[in-house]
Amino acid sequence: MARYTESLCRVCRRNGDKLFLKGVRCFTEKCAVERRKYPPGQHGQRRTKISDYGIQLREKQKARSSYGLVERQFRKYFFEAERRKGATGEVLLQLLERRLDNMVFRIGFAINRREARQLISHGHFTVNGKAINIPSYIVDISDVIEVKQKSRNIPCIVDNISKLEHRALPGWVEVDGANFKGKVLNIPSREEMQLPIQEQLIVELYSK
Ligand code: SF4
Repeated sequence: MARYTESLCRVCRRNGDKLFLKGVRCFTEKCAVERRKYPPGQHGQRRTKISDYGIQLREKQKARSSYGLVERQFRKYFFEAERRKGATGEVLLQLLERRLDNMVFRIGFAINRREARQLISHGHFTVNGKAINIPSYIVDISDVIEVKQKSRNIPCIVDNISKLEHRALPGWVEVDGANFKGKVLNIPSREEMQLPIQEQLIVELYSK
């Protein structure tokens, strides 16, 4: 499985925005974007004028990096969104939100999407009682995501569930931490997703 191995904070700094890729650290003063508000690298502090194309590209990179996807995977989601009914940008974000790794992160069983992806590929989750170890699995309304019985003593899962009350969970999921379960209540609307992404710019970029 292809993946980027660059430092997560470096990805945020390059995109010029906090993408909350790490977890707790993102909410502290240790956040790299807070400490160094310029792109990484030798020429990071140079002033450069960014073109329209650059703005669109950055928005796409922000979305792609937030969900931890490589270009080929992200483009596939875009074409799928284009094929489906509805506003392409919104459908694209909905598809990304419905990925199982994102869901495990959203329901608070993982500290970030990277951890969620690892836990899923190690086979610690079921969806509607069926073992699923594919992070890109797309969940649907009423799907129940559950930690397997044998995985309920894994320290990071136990720790994440114990901190659930401190996490702001989205309104479109329901979480039952005591029973290691989460449920999809509805497909999130654009307002519910609250993502700092201008999806229209992504549509413009890919429509060239
Ligand atoms: Fe991004 Fe979080 Fe690192 Fe801040 S701490 S730069 S939000 S990954």
